[in-house]
Amino acid sequence: MRRISRIVRIGNVEIGGNNPIAVQSMTKTDTRNVVETVNQILELEDAGCEIIRVAVPDREAALAIKEIKKGIHIPLIADIHFDPDLAILSIMNGADKIRLNPSNIRDREQIVKIANLAKERGIPIRVGANLGSFLKKPDNITEALVSTVLNEIKILNSVDFDNIVISIKTSDVVQTIKANERIAELTDYPIHLGVTEAGPLEESLIKSSAGIGHLLIKGIGDTLRYSVSDMPVKEVEAGFTLLKSLHLRERGITIISCPTCGRCEINLFSLIRRVKEDFGHVKTPVKVAIMGCVVNGPGEAKDAEIGIAGGKKTGVIFKKGKVLKTVSEDKLYSEFKKELEKIIKEKSSS
Ligand code: SF4
Repeated sequence: MRRISRIVRIGNVEIGGNNPIAVQSMTKTDTRNVVETVNQILELEDAGCEIIRVAVPDREAALAIKEIKKGIHIPLIADIHFDPDLAILSIMNGADKIRLNPSNIRDREQIVKIANLAKERGIPIRVGANLGSFLKKPDNITEALVSTVLNEIKILNSVDFDNIVISIKTSDVVQTIKANERIAELTDYPIHLGVTEAGPLEESLIKSSAGIGHLLIKGIGDTLRYSVSDMPVKEVEAGFTLLKSLHLRERGITIISCPTCGRCEINLFSLIRRVKEDFGHVKTPVKVAIMGCVVNGPGEAKDAEIGIAGGKKTGVIFKKGKVLKTVSEDKLYSEFKKELEKIIKEKSSS
């Protein structure tokens, strides 16, 4: 059962409540470079990114938000550390949400000013905690992370602001899970999920999937971001793969493929690569199976709308587990491609 959280609007996207769990990413460009940043965001939009965060380290970056917003179609979050003037400037320049911890701002008047401006413009503020929030490692990390977030919420509530999103991320999967489970019990603000500084692609995919996946299965989480030391588009692809695997979202081609074994007599890995290259951009949900042999192929992939099962230098193309035709290996991909294109066309026009 999904945890029912408050609904928060970020630009044209609503999160929380029963809204779909939104996939976020963060740009890796210098925000002051408007052209590069817009191009990266457009690439992410194409991959399905629904909310984008940009770093705002200085005034020039805050001012660039206005120009960036003109070139993109998804809500933009300004990521602020410490500097209240940058928060104000980012809101004035069109940020749809601010990531900021009010406890980092000493002057209460400044917090009031940010809160009032955000309220006036209907902009939420994301507060959060990670291990960087502490000068020295606390004895009970879960408790410390949770009480840090509760304190951030308290500060905003004390200036009559409650359009809040929360996030607790650490690079430790178990800590992240425990702290999110606890905060989910204590508040009904929407939660943004992630395992932070999760490492290079392979490691981070595993760590993030374990952490975010566990929480999603328990019904916790309203937005998510995979944090990877790689191209940001990988973050979005991973986010959707996880949501699709948990039946929480549908998007694009889902590939069911076997690991291959001694029975496989076709170049299965190359077929998979070609499907990803040719159909990776497709938004229509289609389940595709690419299996090494007919022994287990069609049977194991009954669920797939279309599939290939390899034979001896041949392959069969099947639909929902039933064989459609047998073709030689050299024509296998082109025949399969035609059939898949037909399915996508039918589904996208219905
Ligand atoms: Fe091996 Fe065939 Fe199973 Fe692939 S589908 S792992 S080739 S038995």
